[in-house]
Formats: sequence, C-alpha cells, structure tokens
Amino acid sequence: MGTGLIGGSLALASRGAGTVGSVVGVGRSAASREVARAMGLVDRTTDDLAAGVQGADLVVLAVPVHEIVRLLPEVARHVGATCLVTDVGSVKGPILAAGDAAFPDGRFVAGHPIAGKEQSGPAAARADLFQGANWILTPSARTRAGAVERVGAFCRSAGANVVQMDATWHDEVFATVSHLPHLVAFALMDTVLTTERGEERLRFSAGGLRDFTRVAGSDPVMWRDIFLMNRESVLRVLAGYQQALERLAAAIRDGDGEALTDRLLQARAAREELLHRS
Ligand code: NAP
Repeated sequence: MGTGLIGGSLALASRGAGTVGSVVGVGRSAASREVARAMGLVDRTTDDLAAGVQGADLVVLAVPVHEIVRLLPEVARHVGATCLVTDVGSVKGPILAAGDAAFPDGRFVAGHPIAGKEQSGPAAARADLFQGANWILTPSARTRAGAVERVGAFCRSAGANVVQMDATWHDEVFATVSHLPHLVAFALMDTVLTTERGEERLRFSAGGLRDFTRVAGSDPVMWRDIFLMNRESVLRVLAGYQQALERLAAAIRDGDGEALTDRLLQARAAREELLHRS
C-alpha cells in the first residue's frame, strides 16, 4: 500500500529479483497510480484497499507513519488468515503497538529500510534503492519467528541487510541520526529566511548551506508525522542539541578560542570516523 519512493522501489526491486508473483499497488491518487503503472512498478493498481489486499501473501504498508497506524486495523479486516503484514515507517514504537493490536496472532513484522532520498512519489522509485542498505526489523515478543524470517528474506531479496532491533531503542537512535538532522535542516532554512533581509542573504549562499540543508527538500508532511509520532525521543535529542549550541555560543561569547577549538576538533574527528565507517 503506497506506491511512492519506498513502496515503488520495493515493488521494482522484488519484481526484478523474481521473489513476487504479482504486485498490486494500492494508492489514493489517480495520478500516482497512473505513474506507478506507466513506470512498470506494479502489475496493477487500485484505490480500493479491500480489493487490493484480497488474496495477498504479503502486504507492505509504505504510506506516512500516521496512515500506517490508521490503516493497520483496516488491513486486518480484509486480509486472509495466512497473509503476512509489514511496514516501512521511520518510527517504530507506536506502529509496532498498533500492528500487534491489529494482528494478535503475531503476523505483523515492523520494519524500516535505512535507504531513501529527498525526492518522493512513484517517479522517484529506483530498483537499487535498497542495495547494501540496512533494513531494520523490530519484532515484539508477540511477533512470530517464522513471520520475521519470511519478511527478512523478502527484504534481503531487495538487496538489503536485515538487522533486528528493539523498537524503543530504534526510535531513540533514529531521533538522533535522522530525525534531528532533518529538523535542524528545516530550522536552518527557516532561520535564514526569517532573518532581516533573508532573501538577499540567501542570494549569496554557496555550497555549504545547500549541502547542509539537502534533507530540507524532503516531504514536509511525511516529516511532520515522523516528528510528532516520535515526539519524546525527538524532544530529548533536540534538548541535547540545544545544549551543544549553547556550549558553542558560550565559548564565542567568552572569546574562549581554546574551548571552541576543542569542540570543533572533537566534532571533526567524529565526522571523519563516520565517513571512514561508511
Ligand atoms: P512518498 O514517496 O511520498 O509515498 C507515500 C505514499 O503514501 C504515496 O503512495 C502516497 O499516495 C501515499 N500517501 C501519502 N499520504 C497519504 C495519506 N494521508 N493517506 C493515504 N496514502 C497516503 O513517501 P515515501 O518516501 O515512500 O515514504 C513512505 C514511508 O516510508 C513513510 O512511512 C516513511 O516514514 C518511510 N520511509 C521513508 C524514507 C525516505 O527517505 N523517504 C526512508 C525510510 C522509510 P499518493 O501519491 O496517492 O498521495
């Protein structure tokens, strides 16, 4: 369900790998369904959830995170007794809880592919999006081991490495390494624009601002939902970031070059380590 960047890419990858018989794209807008068909992402499309999931072996929810929570009970009403259900949402705790409630027999496997880009919609789909990417599964005590195994095999067939993680820890980690950077990029663009004569300042910006704010080109509605759904963790890491900014501001205010250099050296070393690892 959802034939955008992630759903469309997964459909392409699994059709390419030959791991699926027929892929039905369930979507709300006629325009997206038309693009998904024209690009050959799916075998057919429908806007009717019940008809779309009927007879399915696997349903993948690839819509914004609040929609995943809303749709899970509806999917449960229409799928057969052996159908597995998974999702790709960027926040896991509330989705896992909703999935376990909708599928008390443990057929829901919560997932999150660590792949993407700032473009969205079916036209941005790519068959190799998940090649070499981590795909995190966050099973609960209720989730059936066999369901995790089969969903994991499906993710691997799209080119991903499957990693298992506790859902609460997932949300804390991704608040730090993904949600905070997106929030900061949106805030930075907002700051530049709302500063006096912001438009004029922007005209002189070079690669630094563009590189730093690349992810502020992402879909605002999708990110609004992620920030709201992962509220506690996002607010916690945001408070840590505000403290880091305050430490830098204090060093600048005090003219404390030594403290400032220490912080910058430490940050640069952490970034070099990050690049080295990836
Ligand atoms: P996308 O390209 O915008 O696609 C979203 C899909 O969901 C589209 O098919 C869209 O249908 C449908 N949709 C949007 N709003 C909806 C609503 N209110 N009700 C029903 N359907 C709706 O987004 P995406 O990047 O594929 O993201 C999908 C999921 O993947 C999200 O949960 C996100 O957290 C997760 N994810 C994203 C990334 C990333 O980098 N983008 C990475 C990992 C995980 P229409 O086209 O008809 O509107």
